[in-house]
Amino acid sequence: MSAMDDLLAYQRETEALGQVMGRLGWDQETVMPRGAAAQRGDEIAALEGVLHARRTDPRLGDWLAQAVPTSEAEEAQLRLIARSHDRARKVPGRLAAEIARVTSVSQGIWAEARRAEDLAGFLPVLGQVVDLRRQEAQALSDGGDAYDALLDGYEPGMTGDEIGALFDRMRPRIVALREALRAAPQAPDLTGRFPKAQQLALAEEIARAFGYDMARGRIDEAVHPFSSGSFNDVRITTRVNEVEPLGCLYSTIHEVGHAGYEQNIDQAFGLSALGQGVSMGVHESQSRIYENQLGRSPAFCHWLYGRMVDRFGTLSVAGPEEFARAVNAVTTGYIRTEADEVHYNLHIMLRFDLERALMRGDLALEDLEAAWNDRFAADFGIAVDRPSNGMLQDVHWPVGLFGYFPTYSLGNVYAGCLHAALRADVPGLDADLGRGDPSAALAWLRHRVQVHGGLRPPRETIEHATGAEVSEAPLLDYLEGKFTALYGL
Ligand code: ZN
Repeated sequence: MSAMDDLLAYQRETEALGQVMGRLGWDQETVMPRGAAAQRGDEIAALEGVLHARRTDPRLGDWLAQAVPTSEAEEAQLRLIARSHDRARKVPGRLAAEIARVTSVSQGIWAEARRAEDLAGFLPVLGQVVDLRRQEAQALSDGGDAYDALLDGYEPGMTGDEIGALFDRMRPRIVALREALRAAPQAPDLTGRFPKAQQLALAEEIARAFGYDMARGRIDEAVHPFSSGSFNDVRITTRVNEVEPLGCLYSTIHEVGHAGYEQNIDQAFGLSALGQGVSMGVHESQSRIYENQLGRSPAFCHWLYGRMVDRFGTLSVAGPEEFARAVNAVTTGYIRTEADEVHYNLHIMLRFDLERALMRGDLALEDLEAAWNDRFAADFGIAVDRPSNGMLQDVHWPVGLFGYFPTYSLGNVYAGCLHAALRADVPGLDADLGRGDPSAALAWLRHRVQVHGGLRPPRETIEHATGAEVSEAPLLDYLEGKFTALYGL
């Protein structure tokens, strides 16, 4: 056995255990009994201890020093394993396990607090989470920027300064578009009852149309839809509201974008460091392009309108054009996950500034709610009426995901880049989408992005796919073009 063989064999077991960890999280969000929360925290902490020990194993350093790569893929394997080894070694094992335990428990406390609108009841455990993640950030950053160290865990190579500059460039055009759309007449809401079984059947039909392989996946219900797993077990969840069917359908398309990425990675990379999406931002680019540029396109809305009428009978909108405007309604709301494409990035900008200040010690936890509410009023023009519409709305901070939010906007930016290139290469795209057939677009994404897994760093992954530098311009051009046409501005 060469050092490379030993290293890859060892990594395969680590990746397998990582998949088990992910499945524990899936279980917690779907079918775990509520009374099991504390025990699950212990289980996850124990497994995290095993994973941390493996990622810091001194033999890794020896193998990494001795292994001789013979291909681009092996070079990438070494780069990614070395990165994981390096990050893991900087964080004491007890701290890693404590973060895993506390964030698992915190999630349950947050869910209760959100239901009860009890911010004060949640702040103590949030304080623990913030403190632990700051300790981790300090360990990771070698005296550098704490926020950048966390962001780098989700989007390797990205910095807070780059995100800040990106947002400064994006904000004026987004705000101008939002202001222009304020006066536009909105489509009526979809009203009526949409039985759960019919919604789930249509969601599965659309998931299959978007290439989701149900032999290697499954669809369950969860409060917050997510996808989970890699390789040959990639699961998604959705949510159903019987008076609002679009949430189920579009969250399904979104999660199928994540799952499709994982399912389409080269099988040769399975259970290796290359065998997952390369970053959260690139991951989100796939979910967003499936959901928005493809799924919310007027052409696809035309097809979906017909399928909705087949399943649910006459709708409260006058026809496919009005349905497309209902799907793309632009309204100011509190909730990020329900935000339209125009408002979405403004939600992320708010969270980015607050969490960066929190991690750098520039904002105290006691002042977070007031800071949130002031900023929300300034950016959105409405006052936050209750914590579940404000800082209790998202699970990210409760589970310690500081540095994660910017990857959503990066995903939108990357999706804009990919969409521009895709349009140039697939001229019949709208005709395809009008028949409910995104297969040519999916083949392009699979071939250009998805099969490669972790082969190239995030930005290179996108630039390799498009042949152009990453820029926010294609996203902003797309948003302005789409919404001015939809609303006849
Ligand atoms: Zn997503």
